[in-house]
Amino acid sequence: NKQVILKDYINGYPKESDMVVTSDATIRLELPENDGGLVLTKNLYLSCDPYMRSRMSRATEASYVDSFTPGSPILGYGVSRVLESSHPNFKKGDLIWGLINWEEYSLIKDTSSLIKIQHTDVPLSYYTGILGMPGMTAYVGFYEICSPKKGDTVFVSAASGAVGQLVGQFAKLFGCYVVGSAGSQEKVDLLKNKFGFDEAFNYKEEQDLNAALKRYFPNGIDIYFENVGGKMLDEVLRNMRLNGRIAVCGMISQYNLDQSEGTRNLFLLVARSIRMEGFLVFYHYHKYPKFLEMIMPLIHEGKITYIEDTLEGLENAPAALIGLFTGTNVGKQVVAITHE
Ligand code: NDP
Repeated sequence: NKQVILKDYINGYPKESDMVVTSDATIRLELPENDGGLVLTKNLYLSCDPYMRSRMSRATEASYVDSFTPGSPILGYGVSRVLESSHPNFKKGDLIWGLINWEEYSLIKDTSSLIKIQHTDVPLSYYTGILGMPGMTAYVGFYEICSPKKGDTVFVSAASGAVGQLVGQFAKLFGCYVVGSAGSQEKVDLLKNKFGFDEAFNYKEEQDLNAALKRYFPNGIDIYFENVGGKMLDEVLRNMRLNGRIAVCGMISQYNLDQSEGTRNLFLLVARSIRMEGFLVFYHYHKYPKFLEMIMPLIHEGKITYIEDTLEGLENAPAALIGLFTGTNVGKQVVAITHE
C-alpha cells in the first residue's frame, strides 16, 4: 500500500522532499472481525488544496484544522470505491468522496466526512473540485457571502483555479461584470475564452496593481472574491466602491510567509462602508444537496465548464501539492492514483 508521508513540520515554501512516498505492508485488504463500522476503500483521485499547507506546520492561533502528524500519511479530500464495509451507510461497490489518507487503500474509521456519490454521469474526479469542497466554496462564497446584485462589478483573484473559475462563471450567470487575475498568459486566455470572464490580466506582469484595477474597473469594484491576500488585497481596497463586499475565501500569498504582509488600506473598510467577511466551507456542508440541485443541470446543459490539471500516480502527489504555491496548476489540481 503506497502512501505519501509528511516527514516533519515545515517552514516556508513546501518542497517535494518534505514528503516521502513509501510502502506500508501492514494493511490487510479485509475488514477486521467485530469492528464497529469501518470502511475499506480503494482510492482513485486525490485533491490538492491550498489549506493543506497549514496542516504541514505546527498549529498557530490562526489554525482551524489540526496539523498532520509527521511520519503519518497526509490526509485530504479524495474519491474512493468501497471494497468492504461494516458501516450501515456504505456498501461494497459504492463510490464516495471525503477525507482520505494519501494512499492506495484505506481502512477508514472516521467516516463523518464521507459522502456517497449519487451522480456518476460526470468524471469522478469532479468530486475533488466542482462537485466537491472547492465547488461548495465557490457556491457559498459567491451567492451568500458576496450578496451579489445583477450588474455588480466583480473581481476574482487566483481566478483560473479550482474555486476561482467557478466564482467567475457563477457571477457571469448572475448578470455581473467579471474580471479575473491569474499568473500566466495561458491562464488569462482561459479566463477570457473558456470561462467567459469579461476581462482578465496577469498580475505578475503588472508593475502597478492599482493602475491595472483602475483600467478594468474605472468606476470601482462592488465585489471582491479574495483568494490571494497581500499586495493584491491592499490595492483592491483602494478600488472598492461604497457598500462594496469582500468575501475572504483565502490568502494564498501569505501561507508560506513567517509574518503576514501588512495591509495599509484596511481603514477604507470604514471610509467606504465595505463589508469584508471571512468564511469556511466546512460550516456549510449541510447545503450540499441544494448545491447539487443547482449545479448538476448547469453541467448537463453545458452552462458551466470545469478545467482540471491531472497528474498520474501517487508518486507525483508531492509535486502536485507544492505546485499550488507557485501556480504550476492550470485549473483544479488532481492526482489520479488509478482510473476506473
Ligand atoms: P487554486 O486552484 O487557485 O490553486 C492555487 C493558485 O493560487 C495557484 O495556481 C496560483 O495561481 C495562485 N497563487 C499561488 N501563490 C500565489 C501568490 N503568492 N500570489 C497570488 N496567487 C498565488 O486553489 P483553490 O481554488 O483550491 O483555492 C483558492 C483559494 O481559496 C486559496 O486561498 C484557498 O486557501 C482558498 N479556499 C478557501 C476555502 C474556505 O473554506 N474558505 C475552501 C477552499 C479554498 P496563479 O498562477 O494565478 O498565481
